[in-house]
Amino acid sequence: MYGMGGTVVTTEAERPAAHGESEALATLHRVFGYDSFRGEQADVIEHVVAGGDAVVLMPTGGGKSLCYQIPSLVRPGTGIVVSPLIALMQDQVDALRALGVRAGFMNSTQDFDERRVVEAEFLAGELDLLYLAPERLRLDSTLDLLSRGKIALFAIDEAHCVSQWGHDFRPDYLTLSLLGDRWPDVPRIALTATATHATHQEITQRLHMPTARHFVASFDRPNIQYRIVPKADPKKQLLAFLREEHAGDAGIVYCLSRKSVESTAEFLSRNGIEAVPYHAGLDAGTRAAHQSRFLREDGLVVVATIAFGMGIDKPDVRFVAHLDLPKSVEGYYQETGRAGRDGLPSTAWMAYGLNDVIQQRKLIQSGEGDEAFRRRASAHLDSMLALCETAQCRRGQLLAYFGQDPDPMGCGNCDTCMVPPETWDGTVAAQKVLSTVVRLQRERGQKFGAVQIVDILLGKRTAKVIQFDHDQLSVFGIGQELEEGEWRGVVRQLLAQGLLAVEGDYGTLVLTEASGSVLRREREVPLRKEPKKPVTSRAASGSGSTRGERKAKAAAAELPEALQPAFEALRAWRAEQAREQGVPAYVIFHDATLREIATVWPTSVRQLGGISGVGEKKLATYGEGVIGVLASLGDAPGTTAPTPGPTAEAAGHGPDDDWPETDAEPEPEDWV
Ligand code: ADP
Ligand code: ZN
Repeated sequence: MYGMGGTVVTTEAERPAAHGESEALATLHRVFGYDSFRGEQADVIEHVVAGGDAVVLMPTGGGKSLCYQIPSLVRPGTGIVVSPLIALMQDQVDALRALGVRAGFMNSTQDFDERRVVEAEFLAGELDLLYLAPERLRLDSTLDLLSRGKIALFAIDEAHCVSQWGHDFRPDYLTLSLLGDRWPDVPRIALTATATHATHQEITQRLHMPTARHFVASFDRPNIQYRIVPKADPKKQLLAFLREEHAGDAGIVYCLSRKSVESTAEFLSRNGIEAVPYHAGLDAGTRAAHQSRFLREDGLVVVATIAFGMGIDKPDVRFVAHLDLPKSVEGYYQETGRAGRDGLPSTAWMAYGLNDVIQQRKLIQSGEGDEAFRRRASAHLDSMLALCETAQCRRGQLLAYFGQDPDPMGCGNCDTCMVPPETWDGTVAAQKVLSTVVRLQRERGQKFGAVQIVDILLGKRTAKVIQFDHDQLSVFGIGQELEEGEWRGVVRQLLAQGLLAVEGDYGTLVLTEASGSVLRREREVPLRKEPKKPVTSRAASGSGSTRGERKAKAAAAELPEALQPAFEALRAWRAEQAREQGVPAYVIFHDATLREIATVWPTSVRQLGGISGVGEKKLATYGEGVIGVLASLGDAPGTTAPTPGPTAEAAGHGPDDDWPETDAEPEPEDWV
């Protein structure tokens, strides 16, 4: 534990360690105010401090930054951080400076004089960390400059940008392979949250890091609750979800098109939820302004296309919502991963329906690219659809997709674990749909979309049914046993299972090779029943499910009501500080830290120093302020009432409690 005089008192839990490690640990306590390393961090840091190269795969929120920041502080010289995210460098540097770390950046947003100052600081050995964009690093003048100073390490952040097949590809990343040739003695650490095996291989090859040690963390994000709901009226469903579960929270809503981004942002704003749009069609100034507001304000919603999000290190994004189906599980995982980096409960929510399947299948067919590309895109979509349609644990399916072993008992913190969906034998229903498609084609030489097929099954005499005499078909009205929504669910699931296909611009339905076996009664078609009521996180605590109950409870755990006023007062104080300094609120303190302060209710600056996230510099800067806020609220709630008081709770409340369960601690796993 970190004592007040800047000394490090080693507790029993922290075994005496090698010199490098103990210095790293001391830095963790002193600068960052954290108690212990998480998962792979200790091993990565020890390895890099000792001069080794490392390739680090860790999920978003896993704590990648410390893996290069601490070695940069411990090793002599400056840590050079290569990052593609120019727009975020200022914030990253501000956050480090707030911790007392000597950090700087060099990019095109600076003028000549500003850059000269940073260059001089670097040459004088006055920088612990220097952030650069790859296109700047490549310049001869930059390489020259670096040669004249002392370099502690090279950190290559968002290393998957080197992958030519990924959608974040940056050609300048390819030139980073020269670093190893030019500075063979300087350790390199490449980091990414992209989990696929192929990307991992590519990073190693293209960056020329054959001898690097590989660190692969668990990709589980236990604090994120995954939920996928049937799409009915998506905007209204979103509004209800936000009002019921995330009022006042910051979050991201992803939509496929610019148009739906605009209309959704407008709809939310009209309904009292502050929301701004973000997509590639907006000018750079507007985009930057909206991103900056998202980072700086508490509780803003950004409605975006996938153009938004990479590198957004806002720790308190409480939800990520998808109004349209992502193209792949990788994409879904990356986007939802932006929620809950601080380890507090967060929701990944998606509305998904028949039109999503039709639209995505159509996009693939009409899109550019050769046959191989299409096949790959289809395979990606199939995995995504399987995740949407599963009756099993969603988290389990995600982890299995990334090659990791899921908990066979389920996670207890996804919709299918919380309210296990019923399945039913949909063989006859499937046959009815398929025969309708067959009859239209064989008897009439026609192809129609889902709407017409469902109308025929229901026996509806719509204008279009009458126009085409479809009420004369023998299948007309044979599907009265299900409602329209249920039929759409059947069609959707048949499409997802590849028992039906979409064709052409109008999304007409056609049979697949596999359809025959259903029509011939050679196989059964189990289907998922559409839930009558949507699952909410409240259903989690009320479900009485024994599977993974503990985790569900942890995720649903809210700050006790008695402590809410203190938490809100601290947030208000923090907002004030952030405004004065022009930095995002989380640069002052994270929500997790404020929660712990409200829970522990320190009465002295010294006591405050023991809280996770309060390092030396922050204690000096804000210590009096925080104690002042608490003092102005009077006594800690519960100090007069005997039980159950928050102080009683606080006694057993270690600084680690704001972090995901320890048994979910990443295991070193060799699945690559
Ligand atoms: P990543 O870059 O992998 O997405 P970050 O480096 O931003 O993750 O870390 C995620 C969050 O976890 C940050 O809020 C960070 O301060 C916190 N964190 C990281 N390591 C630790 C630790 N050892 N103890 C406590 N909090 C940590
Ligand atoms: Zn689950």
